[in-house]
Amino acid sequence: MSSQPAVDPLTDSLGRPLDDLRISVTDRCNFRCTFCMPADKRYDFLARREILSFEETTRLARIFVGLGVRKIRLTGGEPLLRAELPILIAALSTLDGVEDLALTSNAALLDRQAESLVEAGLHRVTVSLHALDPALFSRLSGLDVPIERVLNGLEAAQKAGLKPIKLNTVVIRGTNDHEIIPLARFAREQGHTLRYIEYMDVGTVNAWDPKGVFSAAEIIDLIDARWPLEALDPERRGEVASRWRYRDGGGEIGVISSVTQPFCGDCTRARLSAEGKVFTCLFGKVGHDLKTPLRDGESDAALADRIRSLWAARTDRYSEQRSVDLAQGRFQPSEKVEMFRIGG
Ligand code: SAM
Ligand code: SF4
Ligand code: SF4
Repeated sequence: MSSQPAVDPLTDSLGRPLDDLRISVTDRCNFRCTFCMPADKRYDFLARREILSFEETTRLARIFVGLGVRKIRLTGGEPLLRAELPILIAALSTLDGVEDLALTSNAALLDRQAESLVEAGLHRVTVSLHALDPALFSRLSGLDVPIERVLNGLEAAQKAGLKPIKLNTVVIRGTNDHEIIPLARFAREQGHTLRYIEYMDVGTVNAWDPKGVFSAAEIIDLIDARWPLEALDPERRGEVASRWRYRDGGGEIGVISSVTQPFCGDCTRARLSAEGKVFTCLFGKVGHDLKTPLRDGESDAALADRIRSLWAARTDRYSEQRSVDLAQGRFQPSEKVEMFRIGG
């Protein structure tokens, strides 16, 4: 794998490079997390023919890599629901220039798939885990999923060599904030790197209320009082988590403060939905269709031009604007894509 920089580094209108690509491989999920995809709503999922094939996804990914992308993450919905995912991973792992190939999953199917994912060339996995208490975990999953399925998935991933594993925890005030310390203890004991995520107003179906946000600063204070922490410098531009190290050598944690300290100024991510639409922001309303021109026979160069123009014109800074609106008491929920359609 080469780490050559792009010949002509592409930056958006705010000077942000295109560095990361998140690829959603399905909009379906075997969970109905209350904060993402509540179980009491009905969802119109994409038909099979609407979803990009692995060949189409790989071709688009190759074009993105040619424009500067160095990190690719597969997500969903639940990516492990996509049949034969290792075939896609194997294809992506051969793209020259990809330095990091990762997957975000709820891990309920990971115990069966961890080994084949590693064999295919997956570098890293992030597992979402929002509670350790079995009853709370099941309730948050929306479908009474037993926590053992995730714990088995984590164990299988470790055995398959996907170490260290990152854990993602969305913290919601009054719902799972009492799990912050137990989850930190679990991650320390197991050697996982836990990242706490502030509860965000993604999509339109989760009835987000700013009162539910448990801030990154509060999370750090809480953990620091139990196991003293020290701040770590970012490893690279565009790193969304601010990282902290346990002073006793117990590993590190991260906090993602998208609501209380937004980081749009360093946002280097594009997202490709399962149906081949590009979103330049997690809170975008419309995606830019690449599937139609691709299926109509457009060349790689012409598809690259589309992406280049889109990125060059990018002005997104939703979370920074949200902060201003919240502070001024004029925040209004807006129409935006659901997170399970474009991943985290
Ligand atoms: N299904 C996979 C999973 O849960 O890991 C991948 C897709 S999921 C949409 C990606 C990430 O988004 C997960 O870590 C999830 O916890 C996070 N997420 C979902 N809803 C969220 C919300 N309202 N606020 C913050 N993060 C959220
Ligand atoms: Fe939960 Fe991920 Fe499924 Fe959303 S996509 S419901 S966060 S498991
Ligand atoms: Fe990036 Fe949009 Fe999130 Fe800002 S709100 S960090 S632009 S995805």
